[in-house]
Amino acid sequence: LFIDAPLAEDTEADSLPGQGRYLGSVLRRGVGDAVLLFNGRDGEFEASIAALRKDSARFVLRRRLRPQPPPAGPILLIALLKRDAMEWTVEKATELGVAAIRPVLTTRCVADKVNRDRLGLIAREAAEQCERLDVPEIADPLPLHTALDLWARQDPVAPLFLGAERGAAPPLAETLRQASPASGPGWLVGPEGGFAPAELDAVRRRPFVVPVALGPRILRAETAAISGLAVLQSLCGD
Ligand code: SAM
Repeated sequence: LFIDAPLAEDTEADSLPGQGRYLGSVLRRGVGDAVLLFNGRDGEFEASIAALRKDSARFVLRRRLRPQPPPAGPILLIALLKRDAMEWTVEKATELGVAAIRPVLTTRCVADKVNRDRLGLIAREAAEQCERLDVPEIADPLPLHTALDLWARQDPVAPLFLGAERGAAPPLAETLRQASPASGPGWLVGPEGGFAPAELDAVRRRPFVVPVALGPRILRAETAAISGLAVLQSLCGD
């Protein structure tokens, strides 16, 4: 269970609002029962429920079971999709170990806003379900060129793999086998309508962009996002 409080042995901590109901009605836990807690910073703790109210709960922390792993995983830059596709992508990307999701705005995007609270909740619940000890950051949408400028400011600059659905690009798996990035590669996926030609040219001109393909078919944006992350996870994830 994710809680937003410091975690240390032999201390007490409060749940987030709504978790009392979740513990009592969904998980059928009561006072004295054990739960596993994480906060994205201090690792994983075994705790027991000291008090359970309708909305909230209080825990007594027993012992640390796992230390906090160092931040890792690819960063997904994805053209903003329609709400359902975006939500599905956030859930699956979290399970696949994405470090952060940065929605980007491109000419052919059909949406221009995200509900970050809702996406954050989906990421948190997916992190709980797959037992990862951090919750990926969901960034505010940025224009594509701003997101690329930001990427270029890293030191050293990690490769940003571009999902190139048409034209010649080597397979992502083959590219990774030849040179596995040290850490934090990016995966850039366009909108349902694809990148506009001028946009694609500008992306390809960035020195850190590596166009790659995921087979000969045109995948939906969310399929491309998740299958690319699955390849990255299986070949260079932890
Ligand atoms: N309407 C576009 C077209 O016909 O060219 C298709 C866009 S596709 C639905 C959405 C995005 O998914 C693309 O911009 C690309 O980033 C990614 N994508 C789709 N198929 C891919 C593939 N086979 N390999 C790599 N990326 C792919």
